[in-house]
Amino acid sequence: MDLKLNEDPLNLANTILKDIKSSENLGLLRCVQCGMCTSSCPGAMHSNFNPRDMIEKILEGDETVIEEEDIWNCFYCYTCHSICPVGNSACEVNQILRQFAISKGTANKKIQPFLEFGDIFLSMALGGIPSIFFPEMREDIGEDWWEFKMNLDNVRNKLDLGSYIPPQESIDEVNKLLINSGFEERIEAIRNNKKP
Ligand code: SF4
Ligand code: SF4
Repeated sequence: MDLKLNEDPLNLANTILKDIKSSENLGLLRCVQCGMCTSSCPGAMHSNFNPRDMIEKILEGDETVIEEEDIWNCFYCYTCHSICPVGNSACEVNQILRQFAISKGTANKKIQPFLEFGDIFLSMALGGIPSIFFPEMREDIGEDWWEFKMNLDNVRNKLDLGSYIPPQESIDEVNKLLINSGFEERIEAIRNNKKP
């Protein structure tokens, strides 16, 4: 992505507004810097992340915001989205900034732990939780969850539900789509720390 931000301070904001993920009539340019997003933001309570500052930097055309560590401390609760008086959504804007960081190849380390999501789509045509989260989930949710997970096939068989894994024909079809759309290539580039 070539933003050419030196030409107009609003280039970054306008690029965000034109992004496919941006809602129609997103109030980014109407931000009045009231700070309500930050005062209600759980990410800001637990880190240096500040959604009001993030929006301010965007409106100043400060491209460095794309590479800031702090933008990864938003966890998409959408509180800011529902509270903003001018219809802006720091949450939505944050998602777009992260996509810019991913496209620039500067966020590979941030998303490598989640690549197993993509691997599961490729191998089983299903969404699935990456196994790196299992130990903590087992601790937080408890042994009953773990036992249920380990016995899922038996439980499904008893209920006559069959396997949760789609038929091979469907897996092959989804796999073809993911390869032809560049999805597989993109996740391999991220895995190998290259620009996707
Ligand atoms: S709540 Fe809305 S208007 Fe207020 S600072 Fe945040 S984004 Fe800007
Ligand atoms: S969505 Fe992100 S920026 Fe908005 S309130 Fe939640 S953590 Fe904060």
